[in-house]
Amino acid sequence: MRALVKEKAAPGLTMKEVEIPEPGPGEIRIRIDSASICGTDIHIYNWDDWAAKTIPVPMTIGHEFVGHIDKLGPGIGGFEPGQRVSGEGHIVCGQCRNCRAGREHLCRDTRGIGVNRTGAFADYLVIPEHNVYPIPDDIPDEYASILDPLGNAVHTALSFDLVGEDVLITGAGPIGLMAAAVCRHVGARHVVITDINPKRLELANKMGATRAVVAGKEDLDDIMAELGMKEGFDVGLEMSGSAAALQDMIENLNNGGQIALLGIFHGQVTIDLNKAIFKGLQFKGIYGREMFDTWHKALAMLESGLDISPVLTHRFAFEDFEKGFEALRNGQASKVILDLHE
Ligand code: NAD
Ligand code: ZN
Repeated sequence: MRALVKEKAAPGLTMKEVEIPEPGPGEIRIRIDSASICGTDIHIYNWDDWAAKTIPVPMTIGHEFVGHIDKLGPGIGGFEPGQRVSGEGHIVCGQCRNCRAGREHLCRDTRGIGVNRTGAFADYLVIPEHNVYPIPDDIPDEYASILDPLGNAVHTALSFDLVGEDVLITGAGPIGLMAAAVCRHVGARHVVITDINPKRLELANKMGATRAVVAGKEDLDDIMAELGMKEGFDVGLEMSGSAAALQDMIENLNNGGQIALLGIFHGQVTIDLNKAIFKGLQFKGIYGREMFDTWHKALAMLESGLDISPVLTHRFAFEDFEKGFEALRNGQASKVILDLHE
């Protein structure tokens, strides 16, 4: 079968023929229909410091996908060949305290598909039954292939009560944009989204943001005055991984505000924590998706009219993967889907 492999500890990816994997006990083989490219895949393509530290080579990458069940390993009860499914890319231990308490997103021994073990940019993928998630018939394939990043947005946004609240999102990558749509869908009042790259803000209004702000060029005080907000934002969703954006968020939240941190910072960051203390802010770190409540909520919101279609900007055949990676690396694309099978 075809697979997109990081062969050597160097930039780039290779499409090559590899053996079709066999599902072991408790595992399911999925024939991949479409898979989408994540920021993580770009880090691996570029072979930055994080990738060099994290990814053993050779490694088939990719973890956002939709497909059909192709083969069941021994002992599988709840699924059937032919079912349309996606899957959770974080494989958890099932043994630690958090896993056993049903808080699997907090597992101490999480392993990533396409990061620590063979991934989804391939004709076939084998994962544990526990990670396979069935897709309702009314969900189109292109949405099903991006449930992983949509789940990041949903997990982050739904960390706090948003009804009637004013939300500041820093970072208008695909996840920040989808978070804007989620905030409006569940009843936030103003959703202001910032980015340093104006190109990234072009989709913001289509995604339901009240106002798109070029960070560094426009002042959030002015935006709040324009929107009639006298006291500050109630909720902040940090989705850029920029310390400057986080500091700006702390400055512009109201007392008692709540901040969810999804963006991954490069190294250590310096912020004015005293400001956060005197404002009585709450912080919550977010990793992955809640298994599997986030999956349920993401799909249920899509079924109740959540529109994330504007982020689906590019689509290529699997063989043209280089075009997809290029569209993301040069900042043209938001979400890029690669099609493997009809
Ligand atoms: P992305 O890189 O496409 O988007 C980040 C955006 O932030 C970019 O458009 C960038 O221009 C913008 N940005 C940079 N500096 C900024 C600033 N000072 N103010 C405002 N915006 C600024 O990433 P994405 O795929 O949308 O993911 C969002 C973030 O979440 C990334 O940092 C990613 O690494 C992280 N992430 C975390 C998890 C998790 O489980 N915690 C999962 C997936 C992604
Ligand atoms: Zn665990």
